Amino acid sequence: MSRKPAPPPSGARFPAVLERVAPPAPAKGAVLRPQKPVHQAADDARRRHAPSGIGLDSQAVRAALVARLRREVGASEAVCRALLAVPRHHFVDSALAPQAYEDTSLPIGLQQTISKPSVVARMLSLLLDGAQARRTGSLGRVLEIGTGCGYQAALLALLGAQVVSVERLKPLHDKARAALDALQVRGVRLVWGDGRAGHAPNAPYDSIVAAAGGDELPPAWLDQLADGGRLVAPVRGAGQQVLLVVDRRGDQWVRDVHEAVHFVPLKSGVE
Ligand code: SAH
Repeated sequence: MSRKPAPPPSGARFPAVLERVAPPAPAKGAVLRPQKPVHQAADDARRRHAPSGIGLDSQAVRAALVARLRREVGASEAVCRALLAVPRHHFVDSALAPQAYEDTSLPIGLQQTISKPSVVARMLSLLLDGAQARRTGSLGRVLEIGTGCGYQAALLALLGAQVVSVERLKPLHDKARAALDALQVRGVRLVWGDGRAGHAPNAPYDSIVAAAGGDELPPAWLDQLADGGRLVAPVRGAGQQVLLVVDRRGDQWVRDVHEAVHFVPLKSGVE
């Protein structure tokens, strides 16, 4: 025979479990601590801009941009996967983070910008469309000129085997290192230097990509491009900057001119 549980006596106390999670009353004269505990603050700093599950950390926000790039730029599956995996808002100032998943370039300091996602997607897709990358499914050993904030370097790390990225501005080089370290991105060597000389110690490169454009391609890039490799770079041609694709076949460099683009200038020396 079942018996109905007896109703709680009036004036019943809360169940013990709720009592345990209730904060203890501060002792008389105790100092109130408005800061978060150190471990929690460290977790928040790693996460940087938004708590997970809402706002910018949401996969849905990133997925909406990627769907647009797939549609409008024809970004390949591999590029889309990389774009989904790398949090772009992590690479810009927190004040600009709400714009991180719009298709726009944003300032990163020192008059430089993080490239527009559609342009990044286009350059990466062109690289992956090279004969060797199509055969192997990887960008192989990559040289990037113009690290900036390190966003594209993080994408390249997911698409290639090893990435060397050169930046001429020391503060940006340092900032990129901090951003990539915080995300635990592996396989990227950051070099502070004038990228017009490429980076001979790790040459030859299967893929070379430049995020800054000059009047012509520095000869070092062509020299350091592996046989069968592909280079994608903005270059000034007939008055306007265009995207140039170069495929190396032995001692031949086959050039293909693509659409007009607008990248920051390729400068000389380091600062
Ligand atoms: N790759 C970045 C874009 C950076 S903008 C991204 O993920 O969005 C282009 C960068 O090229 C700037 O930081 C600029 O300082 C750098 N740059 C310009 N000339 C250079 C050179 N000669 N060597 C290396 N970096 C250069």
